[in-house]
Amino acid sequence: MQNNPSLPLWGLYERLKPREIEAIQSAAPIAYLPWGALEYHGVHNPVGLDGIKAHALAVDLAKANGGIVIPPVYHAANLIKSYPGVDFKKHSLEFPESLVRSTCQAYFRQLMEADFKIIVCISGHAGEPHIDILREEAEAFAGRYPGHRFWTVAEFDLIEELTPNHSALGETSLQLYYAPETVDLSRLPQDGDITLERDAVAGRDPRTATATYGKFLAEQFLSAANRTIQSLLSSI
Ligand SMILES: [Zn+2]
Repeated sequence: MQNNPSLPLWGLYERLKPREIEAIQSAAPIAYLPWGALEYHGVHNPVGLDGIKAHALAVDLAKANGGIVIPPVYHAANLIKSYPGVDFKKHSLEFPESLVRSTCQAYFRQLMEADFKIIVCISGHAGEPHIDILREEAEAFAGRYPGHRFWTVAEFDLIEELTPNHSALGETSLQLYYAPETVDLSRLPQDGDITLERDAVAGRDPRTATATYGKFLAEQFLSAANRTIQSLLSSI
């Protein structure tokens, strides 16, 4: 919570009492729902990377636009644990796609009933169809409830030079920016190519990741997402 009334009001849902929740909602009726995963992210990153990343982006969006950040959801499907052709059985907790869908519906419905007009689901995990389920549900709710706005977005949707990646340059740089104490690049092999099969990395080489590059990526996401949120706010 910020005390300066000239700044947008925002807060972390689990730390707020009803009066604060309602004050924030009256200024900006936005709920940010960070959706992570508990998934092996190689030897260099924490298993909760996706949720840490999504939560950090959500907090920055809330600081800029107002609104309330819901605690990250860590129920995720389609993890590297069950990815064909690789063998990473440990350090992941995987849940059924049906649970992801029903959990998403439960959050969207109840956040709407709790007087949030705009629900922004930030998907930190790019597994498929996991992310498609979160996008489909946002579209379905938006169609069904025209007085409300539902938007599911992943960081790579809004960052030109980023594609979905797993523990690669993009994700590792964002993690170095938001939670550097959780990353240890020295645990990666120093020689040879980084591979999916050995290193659980899909995408560009994470060995050159930096917090500075992570900040650059985050700023691209945030400026595009802030524009969309402002236009959603003016549409309700
Ligand atoms: Zn990830």
